[in-house]
Amino acid sequence: MVQPATVASHRALGLSRVEIWCNVCIHNAEISTDGLPDDFPIPDICLRYRCSKCGSKNLMSRPSVHEPRGHVTRKRDVS
Ligand SMILES: [Zn+2]
Repeated sequence: MVQPATVASHRALGLSRVEIWCNVCIHNAEISTDGLPDDFPIPDICLRYRCSKCGSKNLMSRPSVHEPRGHVTRKRDVS
């Protein structure tokens, strides 16, 4: 069974930042995981935010690409 990435597992990789992407306008921002509970799932972080550009709550969160050991999924939009 695959456990979802959590703030704790994220920190264990030496990562402290997460990117939040808007699925509507592709606006993105980087946030810190400081202050979040250890067992907070990374994919759920975006649920706490709203796009500051278009107001959408259709967001996704992923480890920051600016950090050296992030698990970056290079997934392209099909549209
Ligand atoms: Zn947006």
